[in-house]
Amino acid sequence: MAFLLRAARWGLCPWRGYCSRVTKGALSEDFVAALKAVVGAPHISTTAAVREQHGRDESMYSCQPPDVVVWPQNVGQVGQLVALCYRQGVPILPFGTGTGLEGGVCAVQGGVCINLTHMDRIVKVNTEDFSVVVEPGVTHRALNTYLRDSGLWFPVDPGADASLCGMAATGASGTNAVRYGTMRDNVLNLDVVLPSGELLHTAGPGRHFRKSAAGYNLTGLFVGSEGTLGLITAATLRLHPVPEATVAATCAFPSVQAAVDSTVHILQAAVPVARIEFLDDVMMDACNRYSKLDYVVAPTLFLEFHGSEQTLEEQLQRAEEITKHNGASHFSWAKEAEQRSRLWAARHNAWYAAMALRPGCKGYSTDVCVPISRLPEIVVQTKEDLKASGLTGTIVGHVGDGNFHCILLVDPKDPEELHRVKAFAQQLGRHALALHGTCTGEHGIGLGKRQLLQEEVGAVGVEVMRRLKATLDPRGLMNPGKVL
Ligand SMILES: Cc1cc2nc3c(=O)[nH]c(=O)nc-3n(C[C@H](O)[C@H](O)[C@H](O)COP(=O)(O)OP(=O)(O)OC[C@H]3O[C@@H](n4cnc5c(N)ncnc54)[C@H](O)[C@@H]3O)c2cc1C
Repeated sequence: MAFLLRAARWGLCPWRGYCSRVTKGALSEDFVAALKAVVGAPHISTTAAVREQHGRDESMYSCQPPDVVVWPQNVGQVGQLVALCYRQGVPILPFGTGTGLEGGVCAVQGGVCINLTHMDRIVKVNTEDFSVVVEPGVTHRALNTYLRDSGLWFPVDPGADASLCGMAATGASGTNAVRYGTMRDNVLNLDVVLPSGELLHTAGPGRHFRKSAAGYNLTGLFVGSEGTLGLITAATLRLHPVPEATVAATCAFPSVQAAVDSTVHILQAAVPVARIEFLDDVMMDACNRYSKLDYVVAPTLFLEFHGSEQTLEEQLQRAEEITKHNGASHFSWAKEAEQRSRLWAARHNAWYAAMALRPGCKGYSTDVCVPISRLPEIVVQTKEDLKASGLTGTIVGHVGDGNFHCILLVDPKDPEELHRVKAFAQQLGRHALALHGTCTGEHGIGLGKRQLLQEEVGAVGVEVMRRLKATLDPRGLMNPGKVL
């Protein structure tokens, strides 16, 4: 406690000093001039407001901002920037859209923030091969708008309008993963500027095959690497046919146990749900208030089914039978796009509805994932722990994958509360590990889960990661302080 108070007095982040600065030396005017010569004067900023904006994401972490922000216009410039930084020993911080939830963009040692949003071309759609090549500034919403009339779509949707390469960097997923997989399943190839300045095509230049047994899986290595191994400058992604028809449904349950049991039973019955999301009673209440809705305040499942008219009928009927058997009430469904989005409004605004529970506070989202058979026990226990903790929080989950979040509201100026939130998150992470799960289903390790990563993969696992990192980034300049 004394440490926390001291840290707060010094203006440091009390989360174990992760956010304190270990400056490698202020950037010289010559160095900044060299960066400017690469990107051009309009594409570089050292102003405090811009640096501040790039020194944080949507998480509760607040850190020192980077020393300078640059917006490269093409991959050649990215290579030159990286080479310059590496020669001078300056940390390199890739920045997508800053929607991350684990402090991934925080400049713990200062350095150069490389904002990739100006590289935003959709390079090529291979309609017959169901794939697309995008630059790092393209967001998943922009891609789906572009694909609107093609009969294809990209289903990985983390809720926020994140950049697709940022999503690859964090191994993101979201509501559709139960049917279509996560970024790990949907990235076919990546172009990566390595710390050496070389350009790597993880699956070979221009390749976009569906399967391969050729050597080590370099694409897999960079998905989830959180900017610590290189800068992703293009991604080849797998596309999917737009489903013939879609039905959304919601139903309320008498208990958390009944809602989560229904999820397990629906999956065990092999009903091919596209989305199955859980919101607890506190979350539903918050959503009702925030989005002016009138849902029953009870543990609730939101479901979505994709398929032909005929198969949808069967899926819906089976899911209704299972949920009713578990005591569900208020089963409602919607087919038309407008009705569906009204039905899903609560889920879509859940993060902001939770924030509105304590205006002025920051949100911290835990992110564990367990084998589906262990989901009921951990969600029920977490609900009890949350009540006992005295913290303000809600539970929301992509339960079809065994993945759920507690959104905890915390006053960033209250070090004692920050400490309690961290302790709660660590305890939940350890609970998931004890059930053979993972400490992060989709948000990544970032700043705060490095200890949990060690516990998850063990000493040998972490050592192999360290060696890989040292091989690619021997000076430790790629997004330092994250993951390892
Ligand atoms: C309301 C809300 C809901 C969310 N829901 C979900 C969810 O359901 N599922 C989910 O997975 N996430 C969710 N997120 C988190 C977030 O959207 C994802 O982590 C997303 O993948 C981050 O992408 P970004 O472009 O914003 O990356 P940033 O926040 O900019 O960066 C994240 C990390 O990736 C690195 N990075 C970014 N771009 C590159 C690049 N081109 N090359 C190398 N490294 C790079 C950064 O250095 C950093 O370490 C949510 C966030 C919010 C605010």
